[in-house]
Amino acid sequence: MTVTIARENAIAVVTVDNPPVNALSQALRQALVEAVAELDADATVKAVVLICAGRTFIAGADVSEFGKPPQPPHLPDVVARIEAAKKPWVAAIHGSALGGGLEVALGCAYRVAIASASLGLPEVKLGIIPGAGGTVRLPRLIGPAAAVDLVTGGSPVGARKAEGLGLIDAVLDGDLRAGAIAFAGDVAEKPLPQPISSREVPPVEAGFWESAEKAVAAKARREIAPLRALASVRKASETDFDDAMAFERETFLDLRGSKQAAALRHVFFAERAAPRPPELAGVTPRDTRSAAVIGGGTMGAGIAAALRDAGLPVVLIERDAAAVERGLANVRAIYEGSVKRGRMTQAVADERMASVTGGDDYGLLADTDLVIEAVFEDLAVKRAVFEKLSSVCRPDAVLATNTSYLDPNAISEGVSHPERFLGLHFFSPAHIMKLLEIVPTETTALDVLATGFALVRLLGKIPVRAGICDGFIGNRILKVTRAQAERLLLSGATPSAVDAAMRAFGLPMGPFEAQDLGGLDIAAFQRKAARARGETPFAPVAERLCAIERFGQKSSGGWYDYQPGDRAPQPSEAVAAIIAEEAAGQPQRVWNEADIADAILLPMVNEATRILEERVALRAADIDLVKIHGYGFPRWRGGPMHYAEARGLSEVVAVLDRLASDGLADPPCAGLRRAAEAGSFSALAK
Ligand code: NAD
Repeated sequence: MTVTIARENAIAVVTVDNPPVNALSQALRQALVEAVAELDADATVKAVVLICAGRTFIAGADVSEFGKPPQPPHLPDVVARIEAAKKPWVAAIHGSALGGGLEVALGCAYRVAIASASLGLPEVKLGIIPGAGGTVRLPRLIGPAAAVDLVTGGSPVGARKAEGLGLIDAVLDGDLRAGAIAFAGDVAEKPLPQPISSREVPPVEAGFWESAEKAVAAKARREIAPLRALASVRKASETDFDDAMAFERETFLDLRGSKQAAALRHVFFAERAAPRPPELAGVTPRDTRSAAVIGGGTMGAGIAAALRDAGLPVVLIERDAAAVERGLANVRAIYEGSVKRGRMTQAVADERMASVTGGDDYGLLADTDLVIEAVFEDLAVKRAVFEKLSSVCRPDAVLATNTSYLDPNAISEGVSHPERFLGLHFFSPAHIMKLLEIVPTETTALDVLATGFALVRLLGKIPVRAGICDGFIGNRILKVTRAQAERLLLSGATPSAVDAAMRAFGLPMGPFEAQDLGGLDIAAFQRKAARARGETPFAPVAERLCAIERFGQKSSGGWYDYQPGDRAPQPSEAVAAIIAEEAAGQPQRVWNEADIADAILLPMVNEATRILEERVALRAADIDLVKIHGYGFPRWRGGPMHYAEARGLSEVVAVLDRLASDGLADPPCAGLRRAAEAGSFSALAK
């Protein structure tokens, strides 16, 4: 039974129980309609409380029904039926009332919530808009301006804010069920309020819609759903209820079939699956109640803040007392930044900082559950650190390295109890970036791997399991991107044209701007290491820029020139001259944006396919998460693998073949050809 009805004198309590999140399945929709009919017919009932069992109010649509033909009763009809009930229905909200859940609550005559509840219409995050009257009832209830914010932003609001907006009628303290029954008892005595659907929308100031459109467009960049959501709220504000409902429905159906919605759904499911990989089902992680970080530089300080933000006390170990002070100052600077940006209060920042302690004595780690190393990228230095950790830490303490390019197997040699060792590759800035690559070694125990995943969940980040290779998943693909970007330069494109094309595709910045921001020296260091291994990395222009110390913004010049104090990239004549020299004798062509994007993205897909074939990544969707959460790949494109599949893998192969025959890319790998024949990367899953 998804719905049960109890009687408390003249108040009926309708309890929804559809674990885990009371999603609006067909069975629940049907049961709600039947409950309205039953209670309408019951003369002993004066008012109804709609409440949910478990951890939340109705948290939205049933995701297992996504992409399937909808079955009646349809949600707009369910909401209309509740709104037409003869008795006042009171939605009693705890947890989250999201999407269809909030739309059901908007069908009720009243809404009450506990203070910790949140309410919202997150549909735009899935590339759609609310489809059951959300955009139509909301402006009638809280006015167009607040409705625009809620519907186009997609972020939920807390109960107090919702009360201030008029979205709910009361915030209840104490037991929600008892409070809601008392509330229902009071309103049962009053005449039924006017249904939201027949209320007038409050007027807006002149120019309101035009400026809202500008603001929403600027924020949405290339995502289409927020602007369509705005159009729906506008329509709802300017026309009658039925017309507005028809407009909302039409928009909803149109967007539901859009490429962007498919991409955003793909990312939604990938993110849901990532924290709990099937291969770790049933494996219990080790307890993590305390943590330490070795090295308080850029990464170490960020990792320390991330751990502390997740509620773990943190010890920061550095080389000597002065370095400890510097490391702690780096963490403090992160918290000061958060206070300045309004992300936390000074009091919270002080409290967090108070449980980040520092020292140069490894003896402080005798009882620490988890230690993450973030010292210099040097095998000997890292090995020396783990030797010390092996001698001071408990044998069951989990030891992790944040190395970017070194081989974790090599780092772990000499670690006592090597089954407790793994790679935890954070991205910079570590307290902000959501991605973490989790890298087991040959000896990592399953429960230690599970501890890595549990930690990432605790940090509120997104874990992706990666196998060992140069650069793991993300940086290995990045190397190919950079090489492709240089190939373009040698065949007639300019850095500005390449960067503009990638921005037009939806990336926040192009490959050359990104290198100037991060510093060209890091990649130069990696190429040196690669050459030492006998490899021949391709970066003729970057090598020459590094030779004249054009490392990027930090040296006031890299791929671009920079005026002092200004981060705006200016095309550089010196760089153009170097490119011309390196390109001498090579065939030149005219590049347009689409061809540039292909020459960058499709080789990325080719490399990613090799990564999949080698089992460095286990799922194509994991690679999409790496690119989206580690490198700013536009979410609405679904990641490179989804993009390639949506475009058609045969076309991807054909374009790569053409590029390869012009010497502008590697030919498609065997796996990509196989995937193209099957029409999907799932053909590569073993
Ligand atoms: P960094 O130079 O900013 O910091 C390294 C810190 O380690 C310094 O503060 C140094 O004093 C300290 N240190 C060195 N030897 C030590 C020892 N024996 N004991 C204690 N502390 C010691 O470097 P970073 O950018 O923070 O990188 C650290 C690690 O993280 C590297 O392995 C790097 O490859 C990896 N990483 C870096 C990034 C990035 O974007 N910077 C991203 C992911 C991973």
